[in-house]
Amino acid sequence: MKLIDSHAHLSFDAFKNDLDEVILRAQKAGVVAIINPTISVSDFKNALKVAEKYPNVFPALGLAPQIIEEELLKEFLSAINEFKENYIAIGECGLDFYWITEPKKVQFMLESFKTILEIVEKLKKPLIIHARSAHHKNAYVEIIELLETYNIKRAVFHAFLGSKKDVQAILRGDWYISIPTVYVRRKDLWSIVNDIPLDRMLIETDSPYLASRKGSRNEPSYIVDLLELISRITGINKDDIAYILTKNAIDLFELKCIW
Ligand SMILES: [Zn+2]
Repeated sequence: MKLIDSHAHLSFDAFKNDLDEVILRAQKAGVVAIINPTISVSDFKNALKVAEKYPNVFPALGLAPQIIEEELLKEFLSAINEFKENYIAIGECGLDFYWITEPKKVQFMLESFKTILEIVEKLKKPLIIHARSAHHKNAYVEIIELLETYNIKRAVFHAFLGSKKDVQAILRGDWYISIPTVYVRRKDLWSIVNDIPLDRMLIETDSPYLASRKGSRNEPSYIVDLLELISRITGINKDDIAYILTKNAIDLFELKCIW
């Protein structure tokens, strides 16, 4: 069985001391590839070092909306050209109404995201989307509208924690929905799993966050907990699910199978 963790922050300090063991456990669990999205250019530079050592960890170049500001945006926009050969996707980028609340900052976040989408449309690389609704603002609705405006066809909504209505809205486009490992401990989200057709689903750990095992740092090998859950909910056997979800990730990110 071959699995792909579509979202793990292996360039974060949380993995500084034991990345070798983390990767080894992932391999033993059947994880053949890991997408390492980044939140800033400096994070991306660390991701490049990780990728050099572990060619199955593929970096994406991103700027997280929670930390976006003028200087970081400038740096990010020039890195898009500078490192064109070194990333497989743009992300994570998006809208976060939980952390960004001040009207001026919300405005800047929106304008920045539009600038990024304009570039992604020309780049022909997929987009990894961070969407967080809060304070009566639905990030999914706003992002979907923008994806349509900018004609973005290849994208994944990472760590999906939206509503059933949001699922339906995403499925009307061509985009993927990525389920995080935290679903294992969130019974309230289980019915969402059946709402997403397997051919539009990805799976992720969002390591070091959103762990399936309470109180622990998340890591790519825990993706098997999620596979187990999806199998239990859908009644489809694990091998078949793994086959479809791995193919989805290969298609979206145009991964060269080096495993
Ligand atoms: Zn993330």
